Amino acid sequence: MAYRKKQSRKSPISQSVTLCKGVGPTTASLLGNLRILTIEDLLLHVPRSYLDRRRIATIASVEPSGAAVIQGQITRIQTFRPSRRLKITKCVITDATASLEAVWFNQPYLSKTLCKGATAIFSGTVSSNRGLQLINPDIEPVDEETRPLHTLGLIPVYPLTEGVGQKKLRRLMRDALSDWFDQIEENLPAWIRKKWRLLPRNEALKALHFPQNPAEATRARERLAFEEFLRLQLVIQSEASSESDKGVAHDAPPTLTRDFESRLSFRLTDAQRRTLATVIRKMEAPRKMNVLLQGDVGSGKTVVAAYSMLKALENQRQAVLMAPTEILAEQHFRSLHQLLGEMNLRIALLCGSLPPQEKRRTLARLASGEPLIVVGTHALIEEKVSIPNASLIIIDEQHRFGVNQRAALGRKGLNPDLVVMTATPIPRTLALTLYGGFDMLVIDQLPAGRRPIVTRHVDESNRGKMYDFVRDQLADGKQAFVVCPEIGDKATKRDASLSSLKQAIAEYRRNFPESRIELLHGRMSMEEREQAFSRFRHHASDILIATSIIEVGVDVPNATVMIIENADRFGVAQLHQLRGRVGRSHYKSYCFLMGAPSTPEAIKRIEIMTSTHDGFEIAEQDMLLRGPGEFLGTAQSGLPSLRVGHLIRDARLMDRARETASEVLASDPSIDAPENQPLRALVTPCAWDAVNL
Ligand code: ADP
Ligand code: MG
Repeated sequence: MAYRKKQSRKSPISQSVTLCKGVGPTTASLLGNLRILTIEDLLLHVPRSYLDRRRIATIASVEPSGAAVIQGQITRIQTFRPSRRLKITKCVITDATASLEAVWFNQPYLSKTLCKGATAIFSGTVSSNRGLQLINPDIEPVDEETRPLHTLGLIPVYPLTEGVGQKKLRRLMRDALSDWFDQIEENLPAWIRKKWRLLPRNEALKALHFPQNPAEATRARERLAFEEFLRLQLVIQSEASSESDKGVAHDAPPTLTRDFESRLSFRLTDAQRRTLATVIRKMEAPRKMNVLLQGDVGSGKTVVAAYSMLKALENQRQAVLMAPTEILAEQHFRSLHQLLGEMNLRIALLCGSLPPQEKRRTLARLASGEPLIVVGTHALIEEKVSIPNASLIIIDEQHRFGVNQRAALGRKGLNPDLVVMTATPIPRTLALTLYGGFDMLVIDQLPAGRRPIVTRHVDESNRGKMYDFVRDQLADGKQAFVVCPEIGDKATKRDASLSSLKQAIAEYRRNFPESRIELLHGRMSMEEREQAFSRFRHHASDILIATSIIEVGVDVPNATVMIIENADRFGVAQLHQLRGRVGRSHYKSYCFLMGAPSTPEAIKRIEIMTSTHDGFEIAEQDMLLRGPGEFLGTAQSGLPSLRVGHLIRDARLMDRARETASEVLASDPSIDAPENQPLRALVTPCAWDAVNL
């Protein structure tokens, strides 16, 4: 990415928010909870809605219910304390048409603002319980100099954090806008603004907080969302265009792949066959392949990966398979071993916790360009890992990695073909955004004989019954997973539940004295983990109690029970993945979600899980619950996070941004042209990275 190297001058509003009037160290740290570190962050804190307080009504016309804005003189004030806890303030407001009573409960600072004879604006809710009354209205004196901030106009309502209220935020916004307005730099070229009729940046930021009318608020938000999307598109598209189109033609005779299927213990599904055919064709072509391979948990994506890696190998090249966890990398390593049989010398493993000596040996083999399959974790991305002869890169469970990581790996080798696999499907708009230049393939069929996994929410009172059921399964020769949210060295607050591995071990040992119990968590050494997992896989143990490190990919077909302790602490996508660890054979399988969800979202998550098995549906529900940003993990994805734009709702804006970005990059790939100068501020990484406070 050529333009990234050039730094542009920092913009004034990218400075710390502590330079704003009214922001001391305490406020600054509270604002941090809202991800507000800079002045710009503050200005981009988007109102969640606006109160329409644009019209002042005459008191005579005030309706008995709803909201009202009135302006009048305070003709009487009265304060009393019916009890120690309650302080009531009443006043009578009079305008040219009539009088109205306003009442406040427990507002200690009120007496300072209220004074008899003064004229003020009052905005609040009208109640008709005891004659017409304004209940707890906001109040601001009428004053020549300052415009009302809370009582008159379209009033912004912000997402809050403890210690920073609406009024405080409104004041901060007003002051920041008046002090910094002239220093807000434009980051969109005039031609782009003209093309899409976008507001100038400073005006948009102002109108975002203090719009004249709803249409202006919308225009402001859209201008700012567009700017975010354009930045996103410039990052993604310039990444894609820096890869040349030419790739390796894998056209050697099929020495290793010829009898591939005969070495499998099952027949490929039609969907696997179709997908594989496409991948093979693309690998044989002399162009670089970019494939996004989607397929629900258990649909059998690994086979496609294995076949294509063999193809790279028989072309005397190197193939890379990257997985998000060591457990999964080890599992892939093993199953490829089996598949490759006597050729297993040509496959290597590269993980962070490998003994240094072994790691060095693998690094040397890779660097020599020797034809080899390497399976590993993100350790593969490190600079010192050189894979000069790589012609194929496969990323498993891509949703666990970021765009940057994918790009870093893609830069190794011979402009390698790329397959990214995921069980977390992405709606089309999003896929186009994040995987613009990719062919999308879907394995839309599960292997024959799979039965839906029976999923139940179990509360504590039924734990005993569930244990009985699990005992029957174990007696029948099956195995069970138990997953806990944490390892639990620290004492946990909620000791009643089995959130920690430690508690769970004791509990299960007590209740399953006959069974062999195995443990697995991230703090064990790689060797210990490998041994524990291997014992479970070979049925030398019956129950595997683990943390969520077994979340993705782990494949033990004989396991038919998945118990998730404190299920409400996991996200839906995660629960779906965990559930996918069972039901990997023709045996009927079960998933028990333990715990008592307490928030509406947690209840909804459990509901989704017990009502559907469809990964697409689950992903969509998840995205609605969490918002696309969090769903995609933009924080770790390396993409600039979105404050204003919404990846699903603003699809139309995203289309425009995509079109504009390709227009820019087509004529000015390194963003040097004078007319595009403003964009430099947009694409400077530090514009969105953390600032140094
Ligand atoms: P995922 O798509 O979730 O990565 P895997 O590739 O791990 O799924 O496959 C899940 C399980 O199904 C594995 O045990 C695998 O051996 C098995 N499997 C894959 N394809 C088939 C098939 N066509 N018929 C039967 N079993 C299959
Ligand atoms: Mg998998």
